[in-house]
Amino acid sequence: MRILVVEDDKNLNRQLTEALADAGYVTDSAFDGEEGHFLGDTEPYDAVILDIGLPQMDGVSVLERWRQDGHKMPVLMLTARDRWSDKVSGIDAGADDYVTKPFHIEEVLARLRALIRRAAGHASSEIMCGPLRLDTKSSKVDVNGAPVKLTSLEFRLLAYLMHHIGKVISRTELVEHLYDQDFDRDSNTIEVFVGRLRKKLGIDLIETVRGMGYRLQEPAE
Ligand code: CA
Repeated sequence: MRILVVEDDKNLNRQLTEALADAGYVTDSAFDGEEGHFLGDTEPYDAVILDIGLPQMDGVSVLERWRQDGHKMPVLMLTARDRWSDKVSGIDAGADDYVTKPFHIEEVLARLRALIRRAAGHASSEIMCGPLRLDTKSSKVDVNGAPVKLTSLEFRLLAYLMHHIGKVISRTELVEHLYDQDFDRDSNTIEVFVGRLRKKLGIDLIETVRGMGYRLQEPAE
């Protein structure tokens, strides 16, 4: 899962991206509204953390533009304390949730997980696919109850597939959602990671769809 953090407070931006990285996400940072708007407009994010008070273009305007242009990614807004009017304008502009500053990072992470899950149509923090279970809260994976140890990239790959069970996901899409924008992307490496993931899971749920990509399938009864 790839997250964009738009926050002009450099310390706070760094705290958020570090916490997100620890939780297994890959992140891009923007420090003003224009840069944030551009990234959200051109890169595919699974969710965005968007501050309201930003230089160049405020968060509400950024969000309004994205929504006008049809970008539907979940957006969590950061609002200043006691500015109820900010919350109203944020939600009117198309925010999916908000957190009031100052906040605990854990709250931001929990709300973000919920937004990503809901966007993928999952109501609970655990996603199941046959014997495979992914806990989005603890970032743990098990098969028939036996824990499987994954690297952060393998986890991101599996989490992306599990949020899109039954859909064919192209290698390009995987690359775009697993690496940040500065990464030297090579879609051939995806094949290697899928191979490792299959081996570690020990069950064959990841189908290769020739010429198209991969699909995580519920096992037949
Ligand atoms: Ca700010």
